[in-house]
Amino acid sequence: MAVHVGITCERCRTIHFILTSTGIKATPAPGMFVLSCRFCKETREFRKETMRPYRVQDQVFRTGFAKEGEYDAIPVPTDKSNKPPQSP
Ligand SMILES: [Zn+2]
Repeated sequence: MAVHVGITCERCRTIHFILTSTGIKATPAPGMFVLSCRFCKETREFRKETMRPYRVQDQVFRTGFAKEGEYDAIPVPTDKSNKPPQSP
């Protein structure tokens, strides 16, 4: 199990990994990307700050995406009042 950064398709809840998904493309705008979900055909822009770390099996990561139940979301503190994420 390793931690990889991905973005969630909010329609079908699939995680797309920035390094291996073919559905993520950079846009001309700095820090902006486009996610084109191959499953539900949803297309949306997102900022790189909205990507989150997920713990997944390597073979799942290599496919470029993870369905519900195939990943563990890792909590990311949004402000200093939250606890830091636990180390693996
Ligand atoms: Zn989708």
